[in-house]
Amino acid sequence: MQCNKCEGQRVIWVEITPGLTKCQPCPVCNADGQAVAEEQKEFEQIYAELSEKRDAKIRRAVGD
Ligand SMILES: [Zn+2]
Repeated sequence: MQCNKCEGQRVIWVEITPGLTKCQPCPVCNADGQAVAEEQKEFEQIYAELSEKRDAKIRRAVGD
């Protein structure tokens, strides 16, 4: 489900001074960057599994 505030971007742009905006975690779906941190953790786990499989394939291919 997409967030109405950030439209699924997980960040919002806040105007600090006129003409200067700053990127911040979305307070609705990404408070303190937590949601993105968790997604990142999941991604790293998937990546680790994939590289394990890839290494196993390479080991088989070289007959180790
Ligand atoms: Zn949001």
